[in-house]
Amino acid sequence: MMKHYDENNVFAKIIAGHIPVNIIFENDVAMAFYDISPKAKIHILLIPKGYYVNVQDFYSRADASEINGFHDALLNIIAQHNLSPADNTGGFRIISNAGPDSGQEVLHYHLHILGGERLGDLI
Ligand code: 5GP
Repeated sequence: MMKHYDENNVFAKIIAGHIPVNIIFENDVAMAFYDISPKAKIHILLIPKGYYVNVQDFYSRADASEINGFHDALLNIIAQHNLSPADNTGGFRIISNAGPDSGQEVLHYHLHILGGERLGDLI
C-alpha cells in the first residue's frame, strides 16, 4: 500500500505559497522551480500540485487532465530552457527518486530535470 502523504513536506509548503520559490513554469496542475542545491548547471524540479508521494502513486491515482498537464509542463520546460537534443548537442536527464533505496528526501512526487552541461555517470 502507498505510504500516507505527509502534508508537512517542503513541496506541499511551496505549493501552498508558504515557502518562496522562483516559479519558472506553472499551469493548473503542475509547477516548476530551480533546485535549491543544484547538481548541474540547470537543475529544475517539476512537481504536480496534487498530493502524490512518488511516480507510482501519481500514475495510479492522477486523472487524465493532471497527467496531460504534467506532461505539457515538462515539454514547456524543455523548450523554455533549450534542452532539446539537436545535432549531437544539448539534451537532458530526468530522475525521479521513489522510496528509501533511491534516497528520496521530499515525499512529494517530483522530476529532477538536469542539463546545461555534459552530465556525469548515471549514478
Ligand atoms: P529527492 O532526494 O527527494 O529526490 O530530492 C529533493 C530535492 O529537493 C533535493 O535536490 C533538494 O535540494 C530540493 N529541495 C529541498 N528543499 C527545497 C526548497 O526549499 N526549495 C527548493 N527549490 N528545492 C528544495
